[in-house]
Amino acid sequence: MVHLPLVTLKKGREKSVRNHHPWIFSGAIASYGKNIKPGDIARVVGHDGDFLAYGYCNPHSHIAVRLLDWNEGAIIDGSWWHEKIALSIERRRHLLSPETDSCRLVYSEADLLPGLIVDKYAEFLAVQFLTAGVSRFKAEIVEALSQLTRTAGVYERAELSMLKLEKLSATAGLIKGTPPPPNLQIKENGIAFEVDIMNGQKTGWYFDQRDNRRLVASLATGLEILDCFCYTGGFSITALKLGARRCTLVDSSAEHLDSARRNLRLNGISDGRVEIIKDDAFDRLRKMRDEKRTFDIVILDPPKFAPSRKDIRRATAGYKDINLLAMKLVKSGGYLVTFSCSAAIDPQIFRMIIAWAAADCGREVQIIGQLHQAPDHPILVSFPESEYLKGFICRILY
Ligand code: SAH
Repeated sequence: MVHLPLVTLKKGREKSVRNHHPWIFSGAIASYGKNIKPGDIARVVGHDGDFLAYGYCNPHSHIAVRLLDWNEGAIIDGSWWHEKIALSIERRRHLLSPETDSCRLVYSEADLLPGLIVDKYAEFLAVQFLTAGVSRFKAEIVEALSQLTRTAGVYERAELSMLKLEKLSATAGLIKGTPPPPNLQIKENGIAFEVDIMNGQKTGWYFDQRDNRRLVASLATGLEILDCFCYTGGFSITALKLGARRCTLVDSSAEHLDSARRNLRLNGISDGRVEIIKDDAFDRLRKMRDEKRTFDIVILDPPKFAPSRKDIRRATAGYKDINLLAMKLVKSGGYLVTFSCSAAIDPQIFRMIIAWAAADCGREVQIIGQLHQAPDHPILVSFPESEYLKGFICRILY
């Protein structure tokens, strides 16, 4: 048997491990084995010494252990990673088709592979190693990925906020094969988009909105849309291709709007059907309110307002404010499609925020759709933190 360092839990702290929550906080740990180093695989035992699970450690992080396997017979080596990654990829088979050639293949804890993100962009992979534990197995993981996918190249993206918490130094760049072109084309819902894996946000694209883009487009035939926080145009272009009349795209980043312009051109959408505005969305919504502009559909897909639980109060005010502003611009009978990607704001709170906004602007609002992250970003029931994207399709009656 391989000799692994022990992590012993305090009495009474075993329950969440037994329930397969994948995190152990530093406060739950009674003792670490001698000389344990960040990234080491450890055998986690209860206060009485009974085996609970295997995980990797980082004594520098307040999430001191992330759990990998609850089976005592498991051996965490290259073939373990190969097998788990193969299963994760297999679970996405039904999502990939000639219409959609790209999606997330591994979603970290929710795919029982904590710290690892793998996104497939046509023939290329973008990978994030978020923790010391997965960084240790970088070579084995890349080897498994190249065996399991027909990839032209594997590119690593660094996630700076996580690396700081893990006290890791940033690494990014090509790990294997050929570098992805900056204008790499992917297909989603039958529509082509250019994605810049090397410089785009996250790993370049928000796959989590794939199904929501199609759903919004299905409401939009002949209608005029305001797409706030549009990034590279995912919602607008899907809607315009499927029959929307006109879209106004708003984002504060000139670079992202340039990518949106390229995507509009790629899809042959004429300039007359779009208006592109570089501005802060809060400011622009106020300005449009003052100008008495209205739209059939307003989409709000802002960045995370609450990165953690301590930001809930401030984030709630932000969501209320922007939803109130947006509701004022929707024609009677039209729709507000509104999202929050803050895991700390749960769907009930978000729904209450929408109700407050409706009451404050005196509008009668129905929810006709409750939206979530797409299935390549599964929600693991033992890990509620994996649910982050929530949205509502609201019909504004009058
Ligand atoms: N809806 C997009 C994803 C949105 S990501 C899609 O479907 O792909 C969030 C976007 O909000 C980013 O493009 C970012 O540049 C933009 N952003 C962040 N803060 C903003 C602000 N205050 N005003 C306008 N845009 C903002």
